[in-house]
Amino acid sequence: MLEHEHPDFLWRSPEPRASYDVVIVGGGGHGLATAYYLAKHHGITDVAVLERGWLGGGNMGRNTTIIRSNYLWDESAAIYEHSLKLWEGLAEELDYDVLFSQRGVLNLAHSLPDVREGVRRVNANRLAGVDAEWLTAEQVKAFCPIVNISPEARYPVLGATLQRRAGIAKHDHVAWAYARAADALGVDLIQGCEVTGIDIHEGRITGVETTRGRIRVGAIALAAAGHTSVLAAMVGLRLPLQSHPLQALVSELLAPVLGCVVMSNAVHVYVNQAHKGELVMGAGIDAYNSYAQRGSFHVIERQLAAALELFPIFSRAHVLRTWGGIVDVTPDASPIVGTTPIRGLYLNCGWGTGGFKATPGSGWVYAHTIANGEPHPLNEPFALERFWTGALIDEHGAAAVAH
Ligand SMILES: Cc1cc2nc3c(=O)[nH]c(=O)nc-3n(C[C@H](O)[C@H](O)[C@H](O)COP(=O)(O)OP(=O)(O)OC[C@H]3O[C@@H](n4cnc5c(N)ncnc54)[C@H](O)[C@@H]3O)c2cc1C
Repeated sequence: MLEHEHPDFLWRSPEPRASYDVVIVGGGGHGLATAYYLAKHHGITDVAVLERGWLGGGNMGRNTTIIRSNYLWDESAAIYEHSLKLWEGLAEELDYDVLFSQRGVLNLAHSLPDVREGVRRVNANRLAGVDAEWLTAEQVKAFCPIVNISPEARYPVLGATLQRRAGIAKHDHVAWAYARAADALGVDLIQGCEVTGIDIHEGRITGVETTRGRIRVGAIALAAAGHTSVLAAMVGLRLPLQSHPLQALVSELLAPVLGCVVMSNAVHVYVNQAHKGELVMGAGIDAYNSYAQRGSFHVIERQLAAALELFPIFSRAHVLRTWGGIVDVTPDASPIVGTTPIRGLYLNCGWGTGGFKATPGSGWVYAHTIANGEPHPLNEPFALERFWTGALIDEHGAAAVAH
């Protein structure tokens, strides 16, 4: 057993020290994965993760856990596929069961434009080395027997893309697994510690002000999801991000009825059945900007109407809980991972409605970026600069539904 490993806890709860080489702001999946890869791959262990609430209590603990890599553009397919490959070995790497289940993800098409977009994406995915198939409506029914493919439906199912290697994992296990592994490598995980200010001297980061005192730092890595623009504003950096509520809900526990993940952009619902038995359903974002971790009732009403049309069998199920998270959305529906004009300040944000799937890959490339002071080729296209060079990576087609 490592010296600092406590038999009753997964990680220590140290007091913040006066200085660290790297401070990561945000103890969600991305912050924790970054800390782990910094220590594991780059030997940088003088690291603290500062979390204002509790580890994994933000979007990491609020998402619908869908994992896939079938995005349209090569840049996106490369980074999400890198992540998917890491998922495939994650339980072994972290020695923790993250309940990763490659049960297949269907993206339904309900109109001719949907069909064209889906078929184009299947072809693009195959060219990029990502597994992808196009299914007819009958093949959808064979793969997922409870989907309603009646032509009488308001939005009839005309076909679907299928990624068989895609699926789900248990989000809180993932957070705990990364936290435990980072802690074991010497990273300080500090909960209940809000960053309230960032110090700069001559264009370089020097420290953070926190609710638990000032900390001198060599570098600051933001991983604060929906609150990134609030933190960036502390150094006068205005980011192309909007923060929106995104909601999800679960039903009571049911016997196994849904063996895959089903997503529909057009009717705007995405559903899977968690290992324990509850149906996990996500909705679209609320249209307005907000930092309140709750959303509007009418969004849930629309989400359930869509779910019932696709799955009439759910009509007797009861909703158990609903909740919301705050997601950080960019104009091109792609993330921002890289350096900033301020020396020593790094950015990992804009994952919006779809960053859970990216947790391992994002942490991996972000750690590389922080350790080397420059991006890895996988995240180079996702630089902040693309918003003034115009080299956008428009993933609205693959990412439009919140997932
Ligand atoms: C309802 C919902 C469904 C979703 N479904 C999916 C899905 O199916 N698949 C998918 O891939 N993605 C999904 N997502 C998106 C995914 O959850 C996010 O993109 C991802 O979790 C963001 O990274 P994170 O885990 O690090 O964020 P978070 O867990 O939100 O971590 C950020 C942390 O920063 C902390 N923080 C903020 N400000 C400060 C501060 N000043 N000081 C210290 N700490 C601070 C917060 O408390 C928070 O814990 C969904 C999101 C929601 C809300």
